[in-house]
Amino acid sequence: MYDILSNDANCFIDNEEVLASLSYGKAVASDPTSIADILEKAKTYKGLSHRSAAALLEVTDKNTLEEIFSLAKQIKEQIYGRRIVLFAPLYLSDYCINSCTYCGYSKNNYNPIRRRLTIDQLKEEVEILEKLGHKRLALEVGEDPINCPLDYVIDCINAIYSLKFDNGAIRRVNVNIAATTKESYTRIKEANIGTYILFQETYHKPTYLLNHPKGPKHNYEWHTEAHDRAMESGIEDVGFGVLYGLFDWKYDTIALLMHAEHLEASKGIGPHTISVPRLRSAEGMRQENFPHLVSDDHFKLLVAVLRIAVPYTGMILTTRESPDFRNELLAVGISQVSAGSCTGVGGYADSKKQSSGQKRLTSLSQFEPADHRSPSEVIKSLLSGGYVPSFCTACYREGRTGDRFMDLAKTGNIADICQANAVLTLKEYIEDFGDTELRELGESIIQSEIYSMSNKNIQKETINKISQTAKGTRDLRF
Ligand code: SF4
Ligand code: SF4
Repeated sequence: MYDILSNDANCFIDNEEVLASLSYGKAVASDPTSIADILEKAKTYKGLSHRSAAALLEVTDKNTLEEIFSLAKQIKEQIYGRRIVLFAPLYLSDYCINSCTYCGYSKNNYNPIRRRLTIDQLKEEVEILEKLGHKRLALEVGEDPINCPLDYVIDCINAIYSLKFDNGAIRRVNVNIAATTKESYTRIKEANIGTYILFQETYHKPTYLLNHPKGPKHNYEWHTEAHDRAMESGIEDVGFGVLYGLFDWKYDTIALLMHAEHLEASKGIGPHTISVPRLRSAEGMRQENFPHLVSDDHFKLLVAVLRIAVPYTGMILTTRESPDFRNELLAVGISQVSAGSCTGVGGYADSKKQSSGQKRLTSLSQFEPADHRSPSEVIKSLLSGGYVPSFCTACYREGRTGDRFMDLAKTGNIADICQANAVLTLKEYIEDFGDTELRELGESIIQSEIYSMSNKNIQKETINKISQTAKGTRDLRF
């Protein structure tokens, strides 16, 4: 039975409630007045219940769809401004004891050169990432307590924070590791991570069990209740997401919203981020063999509805989507994107070797990316689209985590801080890595952003910090 406060995944993601919400959504969507009421309510930026969101997922009328997209854009800009945060994934190990049907790292994929980075190889990867301008990483590892124990992951996090090449620095390490015990979550928290990220893949239990046939990940409850354990162990910022394409997109979107509501109700803090990966082909599998692939139109709608329903959350898009479609999704709610990603262990050093004509190691890729642009190309495209690319990592370093962050995000008061930090980190990027084209594009956006700042104290302080950054000071922030 549905119980938002329960500790049992089968109750806070109650299958009957998801199905009832789907039916409710269909019934409400046939009445234009009810949809108009829902959209009116959403204009207060307070979010929507999973049942109201279910109704928006049923909308097919073109004009109403345009209204939804435009509202999603408005909400994102109200909460976070025009900044788009950039990050890169860093794959540490492709050993995995699970056999997820959709992943290149599945243990069913025979590959004699499974890899785990040595600390020297890790340094090589971090040096490349820092020289690309990255400040924020998402660590990715397969689940394998023997070949990739937690001690190793923590050693890597410590090493990453300590490595500084020229003006480069990784300032925030988000971690995506398998569901684990409270003791392990406490240790990860102590390693000073940013966000703990764990994707649900699908909330539909029979489909979950089918696609995770073996290994610890087969345990649906252990996996679905992981964020609760993480938060009870002191990790305040958690992220989650669905792998769209495994099951019906409406079912999984409603269930994801129920998960967000559960965390808010039981822990007082909703998801820091929601990711929306869409299923892509990988080693050993072709996406065409999955029956629930999501069309671009449906995907755009679900992104917009998530933004409207959970206005305060960061919404993350990866290089699974093509450049053009990424641009479309930015306009309906995405607030963070990965750039220049390699999805294999040692992938950044391998790509560098390949481009200099050396032999490349053929490691496994977790999936096939659809956006192969470098960070610099992504940044130029964002600037041309009127966005402010941001390498900001300020909040968790300034103690703005958990409910302190949520209070700022829910009231829209984070936007001024995001804007100032975006401008400062963009200035750093231009100074350290910018070519002529980027300098021209970037400086013009910096000037117009400073001009548009409504908080005059922040404006004055930003001008001051920009001038210090131009003289060589780094890591100035609000
Ligand atoms: Fe392993 Fe994660 Fe891939 Fe599953 S999705 S096979 S757990 S790396
Ligand atoms: Fe993210 Fe906080 Fe920086 Fe805004 S100020 S971009 S919310 S870290």
